[in-house]
Amino acid sequence: MAALPPTEGRRMVCVWPGLRQICLRKNLMYGFMQLFSFPFKTLRGVSRSLGVSHLCSISKLSSSLQIELVPCLKDNYAYLLHDLDTGTVGVVDPSESLPIVDALGRNNRNLNYILNTHHHNDHTGGNVDLKARYGAKVIGSNIDRDRIPGIDISLNDGDTWMFAGHEVHVIATPGHTKGHICFYFPASGAIFTGDTLFSLSCGKLFEGTPEQMHLSLEKLLLLPENTNIYCGHEYTLLCNPFLRTSSREIRRALNIPADASDAEALGVIRQAKDNF
Ligand code: ZN
Ligand code: FE
Repeated sequence: MAALPPTEGRRMVCVWPGLRQICLRKNLMYGFMQLFSFPFKTLRGVSRSLGVSHLCSISKLSSSLQIELVPCLKDNYAYLLHDLDTGTVGVVDPSESLPIVDALGRNNRNLNYILNTHHHNDHTGGNVDLKARYGAKVIGSNIDRDRIPGIDISLNDGDTWMFAGHEVHVIATPGHTKGHICFYFPASGAIFTGDTLFSLSCGKLFEGTPEQMHLSLEKLLLLPENTNIYCGHEYTLLCNPFLRTSSREIRRALNIPADASDAEALGVIRQAKDNF
């Protein structure tokens, strides 16, 4: 998708009640919220460019890189990268192979590269099968070279790797795992953040410390503000109170009777936000 103009991004940053003042006061916090506002950016961008469900979203960036979201497992997102000039194709974090095979088959495409942000099975589960089917090369962190299935090319923090003429910057973001990396495509304004950054959240600290995760997130703050963020999972439904009108916690917090309809609950939630 095309990057949103800064003014539009700024407006969306302040979607979250109570943070408006902080946004205005602190540039750093502003950047942070910009990152956290990405689900809206993603969904808006997708719906604008396609007018269809995000389940088959394809975004064309300003460069010749096309990114297609491929839902996998329960809430995993893999991404197909397609360089329009050369026909080179990559996939980021294929947790399973079949949805990727389907997506490639729809456009009669081969697969050249598999990029893994970290070694967890819900990001690498498709590696071996995809590599066997297409002969794709597997790219991942040097720290995880012994636990990323089928790894061919191992990269370090600060490395630049080329994907069909597109610079890919490797940014180490330990915290979720010690070898977690993000793939940043500066010319396309796109970054793949795996399990480091989600909407309104960051990944669980399985192997790292809070300090490490804090420093990792700070690195992401340094990216240009209109960078599109593609994360490994989507939890938008869990974060948006308007999509959780039957939630007991939300109803309790807003004194919405248990027997109120979902529409009535939505009305109360909306009103609470109006007055925030
Ligand atoms: Zn993970
Ligand atoms: Fe994950």
